[in-house]
Amino acid sequence: MAKFFLLSFDDGTIYDRRFVQLLNKYHIKGTFNLNSGLEDFVWHYEDRIPIRRQILTEIGDLYLGHEVASHSLHHHWLNTLTPPQISREIGEDCETLKKLFGLSEIGFGVPFTACGEREIKIIRKFVRYIRLSEFAETFALPENPYHIPIHALYNDADIREKIARFAENDLEDSLFVMAGHSYELEVLNHWEYMKELLSFISGFGFENLTTMEFVNRCYPQK
Ligand SMILES: [Zn+2]
Repeated sequence: MAKFFLLSFDDGTIYDRRFVQLLNKYHIKGTFNLNSGLEDFVWHYEDRIPIRRQILTEIGDLYLGHEVASHSLHHHWLNTLTPPQISREIGEDCETLKKLFGLSEIGFGVPFTACGEREIKIIRKFVRYIRLSEFAETFALPENPYHIPIHALYNDADIREKIARFAENDLEDSLFVMAGHSYELEVLNHWEYMKELLSFISGFGFENLTTMEFVNRCYPQK
């Protein structure tokens, strides 16, 4: 009986640096979903705080001990694209990230929320798993690695209650995926909050894995 606890954080902004340091301090692994077509791209939160994506060649070993996954090239709404466009958005991003980070296989975190079966069918040709943006209704493991849901956002008002409920669930194996963006820690001034949350999480002794480790464990390739 295993309780798998995963962190899946999107966009690969400069605030990942401080967040990864925090994770390392608590010995918690995360998965980071990056857009290789948006290097150095900046938008401003409420016109004041710069949300800048990292330059991939400057990342170095930041994510060592964690996982890098694809988040598509340009973070488009995938449901607005044609199949060839989706293939390019995922295929090229995966190729670039695999080369850059020396990966033999790669996973995918959906940008925004628009990913139905049409999109999944195309994306799964390129990746080992797909993490959706839909919330799960139970802690049960998904039927296959192309429908990994999320269970909470790190800043949900009831995040501690949700995690406590997960800790008490009596399923044979169960899954909790906590998602978010590291820039939210900066713009919402949540660094101290996250520190306390990570400390809270580490107290449960969950099986904390990267998403790829979880997938390889629970959905072994034949
Ligand atoms: Zn995103």
